[in-house]
Amino acid sequence: MVRQFDEGARVAVLTTQPLDRVLDYKAPEGGCVEGAFVEVPLGPRKVLGVAWGPGEGGYDAAKLRAITRVLDAAPMREEMREFLIRAGEYTLTPLSSMLRLATRAPGLGDAPTMRKVYRAGDHAPSRVTEARARVLDALEAYGDAALTLGELAEAAGVSASVIKGLVAQGAVREENSPRDQPYPPLHPGESPYALTDEQKCAAAELTAGVASGTYATTLLKGVTGSGKTEVYLEAVAECLRQGRQALVLLPEIALTAEFLARVEARFGARPAEWHSGVTITERRRCWRMVGEGGAQLVVGARSALFLPYRELGLIIVDEEHDTSYKQEDGVLYNARDMAVLRASICGAQVVLASATPSLETWANAEAGKYRRLALTRRFGAAVMPHLEAIDMRVEDLPASQWISPRLAGEVRQRIEAGEQALLFLNRRGYAPVTLCRACGHQIGCHQCDARMVEHRFLKRLVCHQCGASAPIPEACPNCGVEGKLAPVGPGVERLAEETAALFPEARLAVLSSDLFGSARALKAKIEEIAEGAADIVIGTQLVAKGHNFPNLTLVGVIDADLGLQGSDMRAAERTFQLMRQVAGRAGRKERPGTALLQTYQPEHPVIRAILSGEEEAFWRAEADERRAAGVPPYGRMAGIVLSSPDVQAVFDLGAEMARRDQPLRRIGAEVLGPAPAPIARIRGRHRVRLLVKAEKAAPLQGALAEWLAQFRPRGDLRLAVDIDPQSFF
Ligand code: ADP
Ligand code: ZN
Repeated sequence: MVRQFDEGARVAVLTTQPLDRVLDYKAPEGGCVEGAFVEVPLGPRKVLGVAWGPGEGGYDAAKLRAITRVLDAAPMREEMREFLIRAGEYTLTPLSSMLRLATRAPGLGDAPTMRKVYRAGDHAPSRVTEARARVLDALEAYGDAALTLGELAEAAGVSASVIKGLVAQGAVREENSPRDQPYPPLHPGESPYALTDEQKCAAAELTAGVASGTYATTLLKGVTGSGKTEVYLEAVAECLRQGRQALVLLPEIALTAEFLARVEARFGARPAEWHSGVTITERRRCWRMVGEGGAQLVVGARSALFLPYRELGLIIVDEEHDTSYKQEDGVLYNARDMAVLRASICGAQVVLASATPSLETWANAEAGKYRRLALTRRFGAAVMPHLEAIDMRVEDLPASQWISPRLAGEVRQRIEAGEQALLFLNRRGYAPVTLCRACGHQIGCHQCDARMVEHRFLKRLVCHQCGASAPIPEACPNCGVEGKLAPVGPGVERLAEETAALFPEARLAVLSSDLFGSARALKAKIEEIAEGAADIVIGTQLVAKGHNFPNLTLVGVIDADLGLQGSDMRAAERTFQLMRQVAGRAGRKERPGTALLQTYQPEHPVIRAILSGEEEAFWRAEADERRAAGVPPYGRMAGIVLSSPDVQAVFDLGAEMARRDQPLRRIGAEVLGPAPAPIARIRGRHRVRLLVKAEKAAPLQGALAEWLAQFRPRGDLRLAVDIDPQSFF
């Protein structure tokens, strides 16, 4: 039962303002229900809030201010409130920030704008001309779907004046209707393919899960092209049949027109979309319709998880291992983990799909917490690419060149056969280092602890930490000698230069996030390439994510050792995933693919695991190492980053925090640090990091909260808590 507050009753309201408590107000005229979205006065302003529960008393009733108005939106459901509370507790985020995350649709407080729509009227027209008959036919054909003047005119093939004439006679009714229209209905339909036995089995399991109406998480593991999408769309279809809502989460960059078209082809209409490319009006419509049940399927990026679903039955997290699911600023959450939390609260199913699951998910499946389904074969004639290392120690390569003769020969063969080749290098720009050959100085960013990266297309040096840029100087800023600055090492732009020199006839395309003004432009480019607009594609990790290049038969990895150098505990896992994803780009249709990895350490265990395809062995070895070290997923971790322009202040606070660690010691956790963060300065702010390590079963959040409550970072000092940190900068 939803609690009702009568006019004048005391209501506790949670607002989006950064306060650490709810505030009491009086229910407005007409009362309001628990969960209602409301507007309340706060000081001189009016702010958005939610009627969170009964007021707590204590505050002088005579001074209570009233809720200004109740917004015209579906009240927040109990389960959503629980989700926000628990997600906030898990990530140590104040509830007000969680509410902000859940109300990220501009204009929620505005009255819905109206537009005129047309329906069949009660009177027959005085004279039925052919044009008038077409209008009446169109209205009948569309039934209850309200059409605007433009839509109706187009559907009937008449001018607007014909319709206006019918309105005047009462044969057509003109009505005001809110602008936020429900999305067109979707139909479960049938898969366009005859599913293989393996696909059928997996689909049946997922479908049964959805039909059960209970919570469970399933890892759907299958190589790229094995039909994971086709299989999980079956689960979405079942969810539609059940009349519940489904959410498909994709890494932002994988949200392509291609994917949406596939969904539309399957279900007969476009789903609701939620990502950074969606217009403000559409965002508002999506938010409202999700809450009212006027959207059956949402396809979106990670924050779509915080929409106010009315009856969520299924969440798909595609490419679940993708690091972009971790939100790295503001509220630090991992959408994959929060999807599991949300589903467990509302009795929904979760499907985590990936060719290369994260170790966290792998471990949960091993432990029996997640079910596990595998698609082992690529669809149809497509087979897994042939994988091989190129031992760079024996290749004859001049300085400042990176494409080995062996790789160049293979690329040439593909071009001659009319096929595509991809050269992969996970480094933006022209060269990662600009070195003075006179004094040995390397040009760095003046406000970060990072080297400036030369971008030749932009003709500038750019800091990849803070984005600062500067013209490329003539003289060394250190010794003043002119003409001695030299680029060292390759970036994609430099690789493109080398490729163009080697293959002057070939059409090149460079795919790097910084070369495109918008995600849309980038996606358009990717689609062009898929249709054959390039012979050689040079790309960063952008290309690893879920695009189909049907004519691509060769992938050359320029530096397979690159990811293995960091001190990040996930370096091996990341390299393994990335290499396998990239290799998976080759040979998706009938032509077999080859992936060649240039490496100076072909006997490195990670490189060997990639080549042999013995994934289970790799994961087991990786799991053993992490277990021995007591780090995630076998132990718990939290990162605390303190930052300030004042280096002394951050170290002082860090040292004090390490000293006063009783609440953490009580649960057996230890504090490491303070130490300079791996990137010790960003945008002029010095950064110090503490790492808290605890056993898997330890009640970490409670202890952290108690520990942190002892400190009040003053002035310009900032403190950020990152539970389950992914990146270590
Ligand atoms: P994944 O999501 O694992 O990469 P997809 O579901 O995108 O795989 O399938 C890969 C390709 O194979 C797609 O083009 C899809 O249309 C096709 N495909 C998958 N299953 C079948 C099937 N049973 N019959 C015909 N084509 C299929
Ligand atoms: Zn910088």
